[in-house]
Amino acid sequence: MIVVVKIGTSSVTTADGSIDEQAVAKLCAEVATLRARGVGVVVVSSGAVTAGVAALQLPGGRPSDSTTLQALSAIGQHRLMRVYDEALGRLGLLAGQVLLAPLDFGERRQYLHARATLVRLVDLGVVPVVNENDAVADDEIRFGDNDRLAALVANLLAADLLVLLTDTAGLFTADPRTSVDASLVEEVGEIGAELERAAGGPGSVGGSGGMASKLAAARMASWSGVRAVIAGARRPGVLVDAVDRVPGVGTVVSPKPRTLGARKLWIAFALDPVGRIVVDDGARRALVEREASLLAAGVVAVEGDFVPDDAVEIVGLDGLVFAKGLAGLAAATATSWVGRSSAELAPGLAREVVHRDDLVVLVGAPGSGARR
Ligand code: GLU
Repeated sequence: MIVVVKIGTSSVTTADGSIDEQAVAKLCAEVATLRARGVGVVVVSSGAVTAGVAALQLPGGRPSDSTTLQALSAIGQHRLMRVYDEALGRLGLLAGQVLLAPLDFGERRQYLHARATLVRLVDLGVVPVVNENDAVADDEIRFGDNDRLAALVANLLAADLLVLLTDTAGLFTADPRTSVDASLVEEVGEIGAELERAAGGPGSVGGSGGMASKLAAARMASWSGVRAVIAGARRPGVLVDAVDRVPGVGTVVSPKPRTLGARKLWIAFALDPVGRIVVDDGARRALVEREASLLAAGVVAVEGDFVPDDAVEIVGLDGLVFAKGLAGLAAATATSWVGRSSAELAPGLAREVVHRDDLVVLVGAPGSGARR
């Protein structure tokens, strides 16, 4: 059994931004309990940027520009690892640092290497501690929050469980800070628009995720066939209880029976769409029912200025996004081909507007919520 546990900045740093050694020690003690049972555990930990900010103590507080924040992560990351290494060391375990960036999931070879390394570390009894490679990741395509990274790691490892630890006990029906009627949602089958509204926007100042980002990550896990639990980092025994399926441990998001591979998952959720392609009902049926490629004949309209390999949303005549893919051609070309059958187009031209290998049908999962 493999468990991926993600802990957010607000749960691993103190009010002054330094690393909360007690919080890390608590998590590591629970990791050790699971390791003793033979469960492989991969930790995805945030906190590098905030710990870097606290260490450098720049006048004016936390900088807002991404270049400085990325630079500060280089100061915070090794401090964070030192705390994990010491906490795990006291429990007879070793920590192994693995830093990943979005391109590691997009490039097949990188993806396979990352997987092999993580699996080997787990087999060796080591606890991999993963973070985004904040110092060097291209800001344009960074994950930005570790919730999505954790979901991709869970998919990469075909994990049994993804636990997203945060500073609330899970997802509530309303904001528990402002509503006395708010109650914990214990089980989620399908994540729909209503739940996303309840989840609201980004959470705390140091972290970038918030509940909406946790739900998006849980939805990715669900599409990967991985059970997800959103739960409170401070709850005693939370990680072990999540593995043991203790009722009320947090919000449980059930896995879907049909799952996506890592590349399609990346297309579906890690990339922000650059454009939209509106298709007719016939094309929609061909994509949904036969997983066919999208041809120009079924395209009704093209929106946005995308180039080949940019992510595009595929929209039905009802205006709802039902699929996402990588464009096979530029927006201008796609526009000039709208409604034309393959026979009308010059021989030798690539005729797929989106090739089936680059296409993901996500009925019931409108929009990716991804940042770019
Ligand atoms: N990679 C960021 C850090 O370690 C965390 C991003 C986030 O999840 O807020 O600080």
